[in-house]
Amino acid sequence: MSINLVQFQQGLSMAQFMVQYGTQSKCYRALYRARWPQGFRCLACQSRSRSRFRRNGRIYYQCYACRHQTTLVSGTLFEGTKRL
Ligand SMILES: [Zn+2]
Repeated sequence: MSINLVQFQQGLSMAQFMVQYGTQSKCYRALYRARWPQGFRCLACQSRSRSRFRRNGRIYYQCYACRHQTTLVSGTLFEGTKRL
């Protein structure tokens, strides 16, 4: 399982938390940066080129090189959530 920096942050106050993650899009961007700080990387082949599509309300990333599909939250503690 890959290391997710979000899990290792020091505690935030509720006010700080809401400023940083108070909207779903802010939360999504924060997760994206934590997961792929240098931009997208395919988990299977390390390629950087990908397409993005939505299925069942969830955003998927598909690698152009090997067609591997992933979501922002697969393999993280957020995997079970319906919102991301
Ligand atoms: Zn790939």
